[in-house]
Amino acid sequence: MKKVYLDNASTTAIRPEVVAEMTKVLTEDYGNPSSTHTFGRHSKSLIELSRKSIAKNLNSSAQEIIFTSCATEANNFIIQSCIKDLKITRIITSKIEHHAVLHTIQILQNQYNIDVDYVNILPSGEIDVVHLSDLLSKEGKTLVSLMHVNNEIGTVLNLERVVKICKQYNAYFHTDTVQSIGKTIFNLQETPIDFLVASAHKFHGPKGVGFAFIRKGIVLNPLLLGGEQEKGLRAGTESVHNIAGMAKALELSYLHLTEEEKYISELKKYTIDQLQLQYPDIKFNGNPTETFYNILNVILPFSEEKTAMILFNLDMKGIAVSRGSACQSGSIKPSHVLAEILNEEDLKKPSLRISFSHYNTKEDIDYLIENLKLI
Ligand code: PLP
Repeated sequence: MKKVYLDNASTTAIRPEVVAEMTKVLTEDYGNPSSTHTFGRHSKSLIELSRKSIAKNLNSSAQEIIFTSCATEANNFIIQSCIKDLKITRIITSKIEHHAVLHTIQILQNQYNIDVDYVNILPSGEIDVVHLSDLLSKEGKTLVSLMHVNNEIGTVLNLERVVKICKQYNAYFHTDTVQSIGKTIFNLQETPIDFLVASAHKFHGPKGVGFAFIRKGIVLNPLLLGGEQEKGLRAGTESVHNIAGMAKALELSYLHLTEEEKYISELKKYTIDQLQLQYPDIKFNGNPTETFYNILNVILPFSEEKTAMILFNLDMKGIAVSRGSACQSGSIKPSHVLAEILNEEDLKKPSLRISFSHYNTKEDIDYLIENLKLI
């Protein structure tokens, strides 16, 4: 059966060069990086070379990169440490954050009795930056946590503008950059973000590894205790093959960025045109010409009966997309992101998130639309 993978915001296919690098490390470089013999020192040097390479790609310094098991862990570490170690008393965030941020903040709010304010969301799904300034003008040691690219609708936060506002009010700024690291240029020397996070599997690297960027000068206490790894911040033997694979994946993403961004943007435009041709009543969640180039979220003008089975029907044809308006296992639970921007009627209609990579083709899109027509 033909297979069409259009769920790249969820995870991505690993690049063959990354598999080759990881296989080499797994088979040849098996020393424990904490061991002092040659095997160990070699593994340690692979980790440090990976750290340097990642830092270079983001124009930061190696000491600012802390390896974690995923972005969820990195988000948890940063948010918890800001409360416990930096003694922030208030967090400003939004209702459209990924649950790795939103739920973490909501749970910690009760545990530590901190204030949480939510920035308004504009109808386009973008953050109301004017409201952010209003919220910041209130007293209190504050962390602002706002994601860069929204994983469901692809809206993009203007990081430079938000960083400037945060600095103006002396607030820390954390951003979940899981959807944008490796897909757009970062210059962390020029953009004074305090914290950001990434997950390798979103940029054609392995699952089970990510990193936190923590700006030099910010002192946090360990996340995991019991070892000296990661400057004592995260004890536990490092996953050398995953770390080397992540560094390779990021290097390749930036090496091919220009051509891949252009290719994917054209594919997104083709998808919009073809969908509009087929469904003149189609609507988009977020302005599709302004949302991030690899994410397109559409509201299909389908009847309610067709809505429930849409993902199942596409899956039967080998097509992977995701549904913006429902959770797994058939239970119709509106997406917390779409619930913030859609009216009741549109929320009932099937929203589909189509997310692209450079491995997709126009034939994939034609196949998707052919099969949508059959539903
Ligand atoms: N943040 C965003 C924006 C995401 O899209 C995801 C993954 O879907 C995560 C965080 C969590 O990443 P991970 O599951 O790799 O920890």
